[in-house]
Amino acid sequence: MSSKYKTHHLPTEKTFIMVKPDGVMRGLIGEVIKRLEQRGLKVVAMKMMHATRDHIDGFYPKEQAWIDRLGQKGLKTFAEYDIDPKKHMGTDNQSEIGAVVRAGLIDFLSMAPVVPMVVEGIHAISVVRKIVGSTLPVFAEPGTIRGDYSIDAPTAANLEGRSIYNIVHASETAEEAAHEIDYWFKKNELFDYDRADHVVMFGDKRNQ
Ligand code: ADP
Repeated sequence: MSSKYKTHHLPTEKTFIMVKPDGVMRGLIGEVIKRLEQRGLKVVAMKMMHATRDHIDGFYPKEQAWIDRLGQKGLKTFAEYDIDPKKHMGTDNQSEIGAVVRAGLIDFLSMAPVVPMVVEGIHAISVVRKIVGSTLPVFAEPGTIRGDYSIDAPTAANLEGRSIYNIVHASETAEEAAHEIDYWFKKNELFDYDRADHVVMFGDKRNQ
């Protein structure tokens, strides 16, 4: 069906966002989608699946630099809270901590279904990251998904030997978005339609 309200001229981009198992099990799928849609982002792909461990393993980067960055973040938080990483993680080596966090992510993301989706909109990648909030829910601003629905912290997660439960994953960069969309969706699973409210939000000059 062709639509009257063409918005294809807008400088939009696509990004990948996924409701993680904790979000699904807490009944927050609708809340996540609502927050994206109300901002003016268009959902162009979505599904539910119970991902295998292999699928998650292929999703998170295996590069040492990425693993080290994960470990570095963990060490920074340990320092802030005056926690001894050796006591809680058995090591203070960033690569080893990164590897533990990555392994925890495989357990976490495969423990229940996930809802991957693709959303499209103006500056979608950075806007979605703002809607999602800081990686560590305990530091996430109120008004963000993580800041409104979680208080999880590395101090709690690492003591339990689990990943941080932070409701959603969202791409950080354009390269990541392109790769992640491609990893979770086939080309024919992405849809093209116009949102009727966009003519009010952005105008309709092109069609006059
Ligand atoms: P983001 O998901 O915000 O892009 P990262 O890419 O840094 O954040 O981390 C990937 C995921 O790994 C996080 O969303 C979180 O679930 C988990 N994680 C990150 N740091 C830690 C940590 N120190 N301990 C446990 N889990 C962590």
